[in-house]
Amino acid sequence: MHEMGIANSVLEAVRVEAARHPGSYPCRVGVRIGELAAVDPSALEFCFDALTRETDLESLQLEIEICPRRHRCLDCATEFRVKDFNFECPRCRSLRSECLSGDELELAYLEVEENGTVTAGKESPERE
Ligand SMILES: [Zn+2]
Repeated sequence: MHEMGIANSVLEAVRVEAARHPGSYPCRVGVRIGELAAVDPSALEFCFDALTRETDLESLQLEIEICPRRHRCLDCATEFRVKDFNFECPRCRSLRSECLSGDELELAYLEVEENGTVTAGKESPERE
C-alpha cells in the first residue's frame, strides 16, 4: 500500500530527528501533503497507527496538512490556487500556466517533550 510506505518514511524521519535530541520524546509530527500526491489521509493515519501501536512511538500524534494545488500564469505571472480543475488565470483568463506546488510530501514539523514527561494531551479521559 502506497500510504504504508509513506507512514514508514515519516516514522524513520521522526526516529532520526529524535536521536538528535537525547532525553526528549517525540509527541507530535506534522506532515504536509500536496493535493497532487494522491495520498488518502485516513489511510495514512490508519497505517501510521498500525506501525506505532505497541512501540515506543505509540503516543505520537500524526497531523496531516493538505496543501492546495497552486499554479502560476505564464502570461501575467499571477499565482493562484487551482480548484475543481479550473486552470484559468483569475486575472487575465489565460489558460497557460505552470504548476508551482501541490505534490509535496514532507515532514512539516516535529514536537518533542523534554525529559520524557509526556502528557496525555488535551483529550485526556475524565477519571471517576
Ligand atoms: Zn494571467
